[in-house]
Amino acid sequence: MRHSVAMSVQVDAALREHLDRPDGQEDICLATYSVSTGRTRISRLITQVELPATGERRVHGNATITGDYVLRVAAVAAAREEGLVILHSHPGGHGWQELSGPDHDAERSYSHLVQRITGLPLVGMTYSGGDQAWSAREWVIGSPIWHESVRVVGNTLRITWNDTQRRPPATTVEQIRTVSAWGEQLQQDIARMRVLVVGVGSVGLDVAIRLAATGIQHIGVMDYDTVEPLNRDRMIGATRKDARRKTPKVEVADRLMTTAATARCPEIALHYLSICSPEGLATALDYDVIFSCVDRPWPRAVMNTLGYSDLIPVIDGGINIDTFPNGCMQGASWRVQAVAPGVPCLSCSGQINMPQVALDRAGLLDDANYISQAGLHSPASQNVALLSASVSAAQLAQFVTLTVSPGGRGVYSPLRYILAAHHQEHLDGISQPGCRFEHRPGEGDKRSEFVSNTGPWIDAMAARTRKRRNFALPCALARFVASARITDRK
Ligand SMILES: [Zn+2]
Ligand SMILES: [Zn+2]
Repeated sequence: MRHSVAMSVQVDAALREHLDRPDGQEDICLATYSVSTGRTRISRLITQVELPATGERRVHGNATITGDYVLRVAAVAAAREEGLVILHSHPGGHGWQELSGPDHDAERSYSHLVQRITGLPLVGMTYSGGDQAWSAREWVIGSPIWHESVRVVGNTLRITWNDTQRRPPATTVEQIRTVSAWGEQLQQDIARMRVLVVGVGSVGLDVAIRLAATGIQHIGVMDYDTVEPLNRDRMIGATRKDARRKTPKVEVADRLMTTAATARCPEIALHYLSICSPEGLATALDYDVIFSCVDRPWPRAVMNTLGYSDLIPVIDGGINIDTFPNGCMQGASWRVQAVAPGVPCLSCSGQINMPQVALDRAGLLDDANYISQAGLHSPASQNVALLSASVSAAQLAQFVTLTVSPGGRGVYSPLRYILAAHHQEHLDGISQPGCRFEHRPGEGDKRSEFVSNTGPWIDAMAARTRKRRNFALPCALARFVASARITDRK
């Protein structure tokens, strides 16, 4: 298992407010964390900063805390079913920090007690005042396990990497133009991110190929679907042979990404899964950024959740092409939006409709009778090759904004381009009070049940499988087919 810490930009700001002292001395404080368990990564998500009360810490060049402070916050963490983080600053430090002898002894001395009270390992973190970098380790049986990264997530994504756990990749001569856009340091940080593309149809395939060309070392592609003849006017690079043989879409992506990749040792992970399945969800939790390139409401709702609950920013995009009853084109608009703490979610900005999500979950979204009875519209699913590149371009520009933050600014409200008016606009997105997606950023494995529930998913997949085959499979067989389709073959 790999280990990582993540926090929202709001938590990062609250911690820096305390640890960045004007007098240049070190400081220290505690916080609580929840857990996000992926297939190959455990993330500790900082949920709340618990500042010391009067007398609970002493600043004297170095900083020390009292045992009472640790006991008090450990009890708070235990009551929330969370773990405890101890954080201190190195005011002049730059980058990932090692543990000094006194740091080691102090954290180790509390680790057994904290583990006993909270049932979770003590996490130790160091803040580098010179460049706002973070480093992290956790304590198991008196020894530190070093984390791979610390992610600060919001309208920007800033990751401090542990160079010994995930080495900075050498930039290649093929990447000279890319490096000239944002510099070698950022290129190395971006190239180390694990990026997942969910849905590799017209838009996702283009996104995945361009991520590979940029030099990103590890890219995952997730899709349980296969190529059909009607995909070929939008999946650029899928061949007639692919359509005839029903090649899985992720294998077409693999072939084209391998050709385009500029990283020295690119890793392309193929996930023959739906993100709505428990396996798909756990796989997604291993990634640092997710591209949402699907049009169905349920998977988009799942990703909308992860942007907040698990602090994994999601970049969502979609297109609408409207036609007159006679089949002529009326207009088109496409829209792109990043989902992360501090920016409104897809539900608040009207991009997903919860009754549609419920129908999709129940496997009824393809049933025209149910749709009209519920007074809903089917989600738009048409896209054309001449316009899909506009959607992928808009999503990739959001990725650059999120990771490079040119001009110091990150992602903002949703963007919409209206073709007939030749007009691009910011949409006013306001987080609704009590929004179920945004109300508890960093809740991790305690995320809303509608994401992790497995029963209706199997039924929905079985219903869809029946529909695709155009005859009624016996239910048990349909379930078998559905579960076979999502088996991750890698
Ligand atoms: Zn220290
Ligand atoms: Zn919301």
